Amino acid sequence: MKNSVTFPLDKIARPLRKWFRARARSLPWRDDPRPYYVWVSEIMLQQTRVAAVMPYFSRFVDALPDVRTLASVDDDALLKLWEGLGYYSRARNLKKAAQVVMEKHDGVVPCKFDELLALPGVGRYTAGAIASIAYGERVPAVDGNVLRVVARLTASREDVLRDATKRAVEDALAAVMPKDAGLFNQAMMELGALVCLPRAAHCDECPLASLCRSHAEGLENELPVKALKKERRIEPRTVLLIEQNGRFAILKRPKRGLLAELWEFPNIPGAKSRAELLAFCHAAGLPAKSVRRMKSARHIFTHIEWILSGWHVRLADTNEAVDENRAAYGGTPLPPLTWATREELSKVYSIPTAFHAYMP
Ligand code: SF4
Repeated sequence: MKNSVTFPLDKIARPLRKWFRARARSLPWRDDPRPYYVWVSEIMLQQTRVAAVMPYFSRFVDALPDVRTLASVDDDALLKLWEGLGYYSRARNLKKAAQVVMEKHDGVVPCKFDELLALPGVGRYTAGAIASIAYGERVPAVDGNVLRVVARLTASREDVLRDATKRAVEDALAAVMPKDAGLFNQAMMELGALVCLPRAAHCDECPLASLCRSHAEGLENELPVKALKKERRIEPRTVLLIEQNGRFAILKRPKRGLLAELWEFPNIPGAKSRAELLAFCHAAGLPAKSVRRMKSARHIFTHIEWILSGWHVRLADTNEAVDENRAAYGGTPLPPLTWATREELSKVYSIPTAFHAYMP
């Protein structure tokens, strides 16, 4: 980072440490920083807020208390534990990484940054966080909070979305990393989460205010610089909650791509009118007895936004569920349907949050 040469980052450790000891939130993975807990929490915290992670974390480590149980957990049970947290590839990578830890490290979470970095789903930030917090290695852990704090402290106008900026911040922090690296890294993140907030810096509460270049120059709310991200693609879709004999149709998504291999309610591109929906049901061999419009919903992914409209489609009750081979799905043969009860939908199948508005 341009300004790091002249900026006294080495002066921040002492006031930061004092502030952190007084203000740090009590978090289960912080109060008991065993490597497995730090690792699971850091993966869950990627793209997700602390408050949202808390209940998931406790449930997850109760069900899968160590690397061994995680390495051998059934995929459906794993995804059910993750249901609602989003970015499901994180859960799959956790399991894959646990298997690597079992095979290559005798079930012990590795302590070195480079070994951690070699695990599936572990990037430079996560490797730095585990190595420093759980094992005390003197390496930085630069997440979005830390990037923002450093950019403001140094009044840097470098684009923080660029990898080169991130690496420069890592280098600048590595050069001043104190012995208690785990505490320092957590304190930087905590300052970004509680005080140096994205939309409003609370400089009057900040232990680093007297050292902060942005604060001195009145730039705190102009920084950091983020180049404009590509806009999300808006995608209208129609969700079908198809019911027959008290069961609901679900199907498994493809192995690759968005929400890979998770369960979903049948859904088709576009916002369908009642007439279009009835025509679709007819063409798909779904003998609709009644159709009722459900509420609309929307779900935001990183690059796509789904605008969802929903229809509850009741089929005539018969002794047999609809023959999936007769049906067509958006012009292609309908993938095999699974018929689930309400209880199975809530306890067995992992339905992504995107479809929760249509849960019966
Ligand atoms: S003084 Fe303000 S801008 Fe600077 S680090 Fe503290 S909260 Fe952020």
